[in-house]
Amino acid sequence: MKLKDKVCIVTGAASGIGKQIALTYAREGGKVVIADINLQSAQAVVDEIQAAGGQAMAVTMDVTSESEVNAAVDKVVKAWGGVDVLVSNAGVQIVHPVEEFPFAEWKKMLAIHLDGAFLTTKACVPHMKASGRGGSIIYMGSVHSKEASVLKSAYVTAKHGLIGLCKTVAKEGGKHGIRANVICPGFVRTPLVDKQIPEQAQALGISEADVISKVMLKETVDGEFTTVQDVAEVALLFAGFESNALTGQSLVVSHGWFMQ
Ligand code: NAD
Repeated sequence: MKLKDKVCIVTGAASGIGKQIALTYAREGGKVVIADINLQSAQAVVDEIQAAGGQAMAVTMDVTSESEVNAAVDKVVKAWGGVDVLVSNAGVQIVHPVEEFPFAEWKKMLAIHLDGAFLTTKACVPHMKASGRGGSIIYMGSVHSKEASVLKSAYVTAKHGLIGLCKTVAKEGGKHGIRANVICPGFVRTPLVDKQIPEQAQALGISEADVISKVMLKETVDGEFTTVQDVAEVALLFAGFESNALTGQSLVVSHGWFMQ
């Protein structure tokens, strides 16, 4: 078991990629916190983990709210004594051409992706320092941390920004054994992507099948979606890696869509 009794907070873990990371961490012995704005779905993930013999708790957390983030992290520390792993994963997608992007929606995107990453990091770092054990902070970036696509100005801006935050946290955390890394997945079939397919078909004036084959998967080596388990395996590698040798990095998992 690579994460035996490590306390792992995963934001946005009620669905999609975050959920699979939570299930994988629990299988590896982690005590997993399902932190999500949707408490009912978060509780369902807890039930699934507990039914399989794992340890989990659900906390309500809107990652854009400093008070909710701090209250949730306090609750975890009171219950389980600290935080060893933070996966800042909660995210949404909103697409528009840049000149039509409503300012309120731009701000919402930056708040969820960037404020969320900052606030959860800020809340967890003191506990990672206090324990003397350090910890692992993992940001859910995207191929869009490295590349751009039309209609995604806010998402691409936010995902690029996470790399800057990661590198800074890696430098500040080094002497405390706090590591920070970014995972950059290609397209993964989750509710976030399923919602985009008809939206992009309409915006680009093409069929939904063409959105998949000619937009989303066009540059992959094999026309395949990345899976939630592919991403969870990388999240396990970063969480279980016990030295500062692996910090400040961003790892692309995308069927070769983006090659560094
Ligand atoms: P998803 O829609 O399946 O899950 C997102 C989760 O985040 C949901 O449970 C939702 O309730 C939660 N959430 C939304 N806003 C929140 C908030 N303010 N506070 C707390 N929780 C909130 O999406 P997913 O595809 O699993 O995406 C997870 C992350 O992976 C996102 O950061 C996304 O940008 C990133 N990502 C996804 C893909 C993909 O193709 N699906 C690719 C690269 C990166």
